Amino acid sequence: MSAKKLKVAIALGSSCAGCDVAIVDLGEKLLEVFDRVDIVYWPTAFDYKLEDLKALEDGSIDYALFDGAIGTSEDREIAELLREKSKNLVAFGACACFGGLIGLANLTVARELLETVYVRTISTDNPNKVIPQPKSDVNGLTLTLPEKLDTLLPLSDVVEVDYFVPGCPPESELVEKLFTGILTGEMPPKGYTFAEEHTLCEDCPRAKSETRKILEVKRRHLTKVDPEKCFLDQGILCMGPATRAGCGAKCIKANMPCRGCMGPTANVRDQGAKFLSAIASILGEDTASEEELAKIVDQIVDPVGSFYRFTLPSSILKRKVVREGA
Ligand code: SF4
Ligand code: SF4
Ligand code: SF4
Repeated sequence: MSAKKLKVAIALGSSCAGCDVAIVDLGEKLLEVFDRVDIVYWPTAFDYKLEDLKALEDGSIDYALFDGAIGTSEDREIAELLREKSKNLVAFGACACFGGLIGLANLTVARELLETVYVRTISTDNPNKVIPQPKSDVNGLTLTLPEKLDTLLPLSDVVEVDYFVPGCPPESELVEKLFTGILTGEMPPKGYTFAEEHTLCEDCPRAKSETRKILEVKRRHLTKVDPEKCFLDQGILCMGPATRAGCGAKCIKANMPCRGCMGPTANVRDQGAKFLSAIASILGEDTASEEELAKIVDQIVDPVGSFYRFTLPSSILKRKVVREGA
């Protein structure tokens, strides 16, 4: 008699579905996974509906992966259902682990977001300024949009999470490590993050200066970069000192600075604050005047978007307070 197959579910909240693509990127390994587990819910890849998830018995899913953040009432419902139905719940990707890129929505309110996306962007052709409504009638059917939560949240703010796989999306080596653990039954203890404990700088092959000073902040796309030298030594912001290793320094090797998608190390509460403190310590304060220092700081374009690109909802700040009409 063949061994009982593990039951696996993959669900998503507010997500770009890039994390689902990262699973498909397993390639041939995915065939082995399909052979050895029963996929009981994966609406991105198959024709599953929420009713199918609701119909599963509580605790019947062995491993559930959730990608995306909790941005709407529907995301919250899916996360709570998944928790009820699963023995092990995995926050898969930066959005699920920390709130992710989409977490920058916490800098504004729903009305502003809708107007930006549907009306204001340069590529939008919407002369009547039509934006989605909470309720609309289409061919006799009433469609209701899920309610947007006031503050977008990481998965662990809503339900208990057993494992974390950071990255935007998670690197294929980490995805493979997760599925190997699931298939062999050799999973790490609950609470484990599929990443390294040290910072990315410790894995980085670039030459670093011991006496680093930033006298000018430059932007990567406007700068000719020395591919052998630390980005910070060249005045280009790189989140390496505040970011957990485990991605294989993929961006660094492609001559791009790290933007921090693996999140902070385990002993750091707030990735943006950690980076801010790292930067503050290397500004040329012993050689620059106060005016010159202010000028250097002014050269940092979009500090919140840069320092909290993936972690605003899990940071101490969490969101900006926006008074509508103010
Ligand atoms: S972590 Fe990145 S790839 Fe995954 S859902 Fe979020 S934005 Fe998309
Ligand atoms: S700051 Fe960036 S480039 Fe410099 S050592 Fe750290 S990861 Fe490498
Ligand atoms: S280098 Fe930084 S941004 Fe790039 S994959 Fe690694 S952690 Fe993410």
